[in-house]
Amino acid sequence: MSTATPQKFEFQAEIKQLLDIVIHSLYTEKEIFVRELVSNASDALEKLRHTQLTEKEIQDGAAELEITVTTDDKAKTITIQDSGIGMTRDELVKNLGTIAHSGSKAFLKALGEGGAKNSNLIGQFGVGFYSAFMVAKSVKVYSRSWQTGEPGHVWSSDGSGSYEIEPAADLRRGSKIVIELKDDAGDFASDWKAKEILERYSAFVSFPINLNGKRVNTIQALWLRNKNEVKDEEYTEFYKFQAHAYDEPRLRLHFSADAPLAINALLFVPKDNTEKLGFSRLEPSVSLYCRKVLIDQKPKDILPEWLRFLKGVVDSEDLPLNISRETMQDKSLIEKLNKVITKRFLKFLEEEAKNRPDAYADFYREFGNFIKEGAALDFTHKDQLTKLLRFESSLTEKGKTTSLADYVSRLGAEQKEIYYLVGPNRAAIESGPYLEGFKARNLEVLFCYEAVDEYVMNNVREFDGKKLTAADHADVKLADLPKPEGALSDDDVKTLTAWLKETLGDRVAEVKASDRLVDSPVLALNADKMMSPHMRRMMKAMNRDGADSPIRVNLEINPRHAVLKRLFETRSAHADRAKLVAEQLLDNALISAGLLDDASTMVARLNKLLESV
Ligand code: ADP
Repeated sequence: MSTATPQKFEFQAEIKQLLDIVIHSLYTEKEIFVRELVSNASDALEKLRHTQLTEKEIQDGAAELEITVTTDDKAKTITIQDSGIGMTRDELVKNLGTIAHSGSKAFLKALGEGGAKNSNLIGQFGVGFYSAFMVAKSVKVYSRSWQTGEPGHVWSSDGSGSYEIEPAADLRRGSKIVIELKDDAGDFASDWKAKEILERYSAFVSFPINLNGKRVNTIQALWLRNKNEVKDEEYTEFYKFQAHAYDEPRLRLHFSADAPLAINALLFVPKDNTEKLGFSRLEPSVSLYCRKVLIDQKPKDILPEWLRFLKGVVDSEDLPLNISRETMQDKSLIEKLNKVITKRFLKFLEEEAKNRPDAYADFYREFGNFIKEGAALDFTHKDQLTKLLRFESSLTEKGKTTSLADYVSRLGAEQKEIYYLVGPNRAAIESGPYLEGFKARNLEVLFCYEAVDEYVMNNVREFDGKKLTAADHADVKLADLPKPEGALSDDDVKTLTAWLKETLGDRVAEVKASDRLVDSPVLALNADKMMSPHMRRMMKAMNRDGADSPIRVNLEINPRHAVLKRLFETRSAHADRAKLVAEQLLDNALISAGLLDDASTMVARLNKLLESV
């Protein structure tokens, strides 16, 4: 058989089928053909590098290992050339005319399984070389093998069933793929378009890529380097490039794992939480790579929702080659990735919290809401996340926080619950009536300042077998304290509480002597299990139903307090004024609880009381 003249070949039947779909499917991201061809070029260079290790005689042995992309806007062509391993005539036939290789095979298999109806199917597979026919009128592959003595050839096809091969003189080692673009794909012949695509998908390819004489990939795939050899500045530069960020990263985690998946990952926590600053909800933005080639810039499921603030890169060699470099449909694989990365990141945070508590506290101040969201909603990681929660408490200084584990370590043997109070700030909680009973008994109370905290505490429910309990709930039972001197007697208390209940009527569910008051005269406890005061405030802010239903409180009185002792005495002699005082005491308690909706009645009454002074 002569090899000197053009020879025509029919594509294998499967290739015809494949081409037909590639060409006719309405695949939106046509640009991936650039990535596919650059990846093939990079693979060919990698193979050459390996060959160089064992072979002495190599065609054009001194040629640089690089990828050259050129665009010609007039001729409407884009050319991708490499100095890689090249192909002999036989290899051209075998590699580009039959379907021995894996990616396309998997694609056809999926097609056979009824995928043909799914026009997006190509998007899920890299069909490698053949993707060029999405945009090509014709494709020419000039190639010369690394083996000395092998001449060069050019393979050409318009994708319609057959291809030709003929000898080509004066070729250097490697392959050069020249694509004559279809009329509607002329954009790919412009420098800016090619640059954009190369920067997006191939920024980290290890070999230099020159586009029209200019180097496009200058940043290294840092995640594959040994972390002991990477400088802080390099990490920062990488972060800024990869995350399109202007700040410095706050934390970083660079790790690799071998089992159950081979993963190299480089994750960053930015300096600021933009969601907290009022910007829109963050999109997942840790990108997925397979051997330095971008698979998906914003994959949805490789991290749980609450980690959406992370930036960086996850690279896994185990992304199956048969699904070659495209968005993967393999759910179980993504789940595995998710599991490994989340676990590792949680461990990292735990270590940070232990080894660098101040930095962790800073992180928590900025990004704590994501940890809370996870603790409340991510059942799988709830335990680890709960450990990462931090609160101010009645025992910490202002601005300093404690973990639940530390809280539990300070517990007395008899304390079965973890108490917390929600309020707008530390001063409000400390000056309110709820804390004093806990203080008097040396019970620590966690302080929660944010609207979501109550929801989080309700969802987390318990820690280390101890129930998380709102300290202002009516159900909380506190141990007896020694009876304070000078208090009203039990009988007097009974009389007074009965009188108060009668006087206040429907405004209170119950009136009783308090086991938690020390310095304040009264407090209101929420009698409604379903709706706490804070929840009610939130619903009111959102104009939700139910917010206006009258709230039922239990009123607790302090039998030692001067106001109540006096009320007991004057209740009969000055009935009118005593009634006003009772009403005012209830309103005072409601104000402390944040439950007084309209103060006008209260102010009018208070003025009346002041008249009598
Ligand atoms: P895949 O890359 O998934 O194997 P392709 O259709 O992209 O499938 O390529 C088929 C084969 O052609 C490759 O496996 C490789 O052997 C060969 N090939 C493609 N491009 C080049 C190139 N630039 N240099 C050398 N060989 C190549």
